[in-house]
Amino acid sequence: MGNTSRRKKRIAAPAVPNLPLAKNETVELTIEDLSHEGNGVGRYEGYTLFVPGALPGERIVAKTTKLKKQFGYARLIEIVDAAANRTEPLCPVYRRCGGCTLQHMDYEGQLAFKRKLVEDNLRRIGKIEGVPVHPTLGMKEPWRYRNKAQVPIGEEEGGLIGGFYAQRSHEIIDMEACLIQHEKSDEVVARVKEIAGKYGIRAYNEETQHGLLRHVVTKVGFATGQVMIVLVTNGDKLPHKEALTQELAQAIPGVASIVQNINTKKTNVIFGDTTRVLWGEEYIYDTIGEVKFAISARSFYQVNPVQTERLYGKALEYAALMGDENVIDAYCGIGTISLFLAQKAKHVFGVEIVPDAIEDAKRNARLNSMDNVTFAVGEAETAIPQWYEEGSNADVIVVDPPRKGCDERLLDTIVAMKPERVVYVSCNPATLARDLRILEDGGYRTIEVQPVDMFPHTNHVECCSLLVRNEN
Ligand code: SAH
Repeated sequence: MGNTSRRKKRIAAPAVPNLPLAKNETVELTIEDLSHEGNGVGRYEGYTLFVPGALPGERIVAKTTKLKKQFGYARLIEIVDAAANRTEPLCPVYRRCGGCTLQHMDYEGQLAFKRKLVEDNLRRIGKIEGVPVHPTLGMKEPWRYRNKAQVPIGEEEGGLIGGFYAQRSHEIIDMEACLIQHEKSDEVVARVKEIAGKYGIRAYNEETQHGLLRHVVTKVGFATGQVMIVLVTNGDKLPHKEALTQELAQAIPGVASIVQNINTKKTNVIFGDTTRVLWGEEYIYDTIGEVKFAISARSFYQVNPVQTERLYGKALEYAALMGDENVIDAYCGIGTISLFLAQKAKHVFGVEIVPDAIEDAKRNARLNSMDNVTFAVGEAETAIPQWYEEGSNADVIVVDPPRKGCDERLLDTIVAMKPERVVYVSCNPATLARDLRILEDGGYRTIEVQPVDMFPHTNHVECCSLLVRNEN
């Protein structure tokens, strides 16, 4: 390609034959696009290179790190011409952490990228053209938005440290603030390091499997201000338990719950099977819109409550409920969408594969005195066809599947059940596009798609789509 030139001579022979460049070779590139992972995409003599940290429109120098047959990776060395939307990351540990992937792009740019990613997927994978994909609904203040942090604890010169694992490693780096977490989370972690350190509590060491404190997990109810602290320990016994928890509770305003979770396994999984309350309550509470939720140490809960309200508000708007509809909420989790919809529907039937989530969903329904919801444990693709066979039907079906999208058996059943509206909430535009194609072929029309930014500064894209059944 005319706009690429070789800056230095080859250092090593190509690992894969017939590639235009070698590993550790330095090249100058123009970045044309961003991948769904947030990496810059450039081409060298037609060969695709992914460059983390580079932005579309930029002229850069990069050094190849890994080459495959179809594409390779390169490390950003120098920015020759910066993109107009490049910005200085606010976080001092941005590059070492890897938790955020887009802080080097201004927020407007991030929102535009997310919208374009949805449009590209709909067109390329779904062959869906001419459907409005609205501008991404962003946050007014795209920082400090997360309500849950899981912080690994380590030791340095006898003191406790806590922060994050350096990218692609298990080295714990100490950190005082994570700018996408609620401020309370920083405060909790700082106090735990200080107070647990004072009582001589040792951090767990992954290699030796000695030491006690593995993780500190924090949860914050944004609407209530309630804070939960979870101490994940390698063992049952927690020395100075009473004094430790009293001091923590006194030092941090808003603490309503301190619990211990025991995990003695050699695993990357954070939680073990046993959880016990050390101080205060088992649950903290939060509200999204008018709906109240109980949150325990182990329950799943959306991590960005502000944007969750907007996303599920969109789902409710698209469902266009008048009050006499039967609604199915497939992949319902703890029932967040179900309870939102139940405010306006005749009855909502939620189905979810994780039994604990269904327990939470039922508790949340009781908490809100909602009796027009029914929750069932099961696979959406098994339960819903069964309901249909038994003669049940729905006016609106909402799906909010995991990244792999909906099972085809579920999509076939939706087509057979012919609900007037289908609302598709998706965290993966690629599987969304694939599934919309199946629904379109089955007699549905995609009316509009609304991306909502649930995870500012990361490459995650969430959106809500409305489909209606074609006439006749
Ligand atoms: N709307 C939910 C979250 C949905 S996330 C909420 O706000 O709480 C996707 C959910 O699908 C997860 O809870 C996951 O456990 C569940 N799931 C995954 N595969 C499933 C399947 N085959 N059938 C039903 N639920 C499934």
